[in-house]
Amino acid sequence: MKIRIGMGYDIHRLVKGEKLFLGGIHIPFSKGLLGHSDGDCLIHALADALLGALGKGDIGTFFPDTDPKYKNISSRIILQDIMERVKGEDYEISNIDSIIIAEKPKMEPHIPEMKEALCPILRISPDDLGIKAKTHEGLGDLGEGKAISAWAAVILKRS
Ligand code: MG
Repeated sequence: MKIRIGMGYDIHRLVKGEKLFLGGIHIPFSKGLLGHSDGDCLIHALADALLGALGKGDIGTFFPDTDPKYKNISSRIILQDIMERVKGEDYEISNIDSIIIAEKPKMEPHIPEMKEALCPILRISPDDLGIKAKTHEGLGDLGEGKAISAWAAVILKRS
């Protein structure tokens, strides 16, 4: 069976005056992620992992942040588009693991809802999507709550 591995990483600044979108959902918080899109760094890490597994560049290749067309675009739409590319190459997801690194807010209560939002787009069951959340132990920009970052690893298999 032909399998392919991909990994992705992303980070966005956490600022006042933005809504917080992460893992395809809105999380009530006093700040949000700054970005050309909605700033959802977990979806962006997933998207990069998927494109990496296909050997097809990264999210910026297909959704350049210089294109006004993608201003404030929902990252769920980006993920849907990339899943069409995965399908078009005759692959499907075997499983995904991911990590959100955020000092605040607490992510763990939101993980089931993130899975509910993402699994239908990714066409996998909740058991095939790992989402883990960590703080940065107060260290550096992540630890000071200036940003949120995310890592993702994916394995694709022939569909
Ligand atoms: Mg990004």
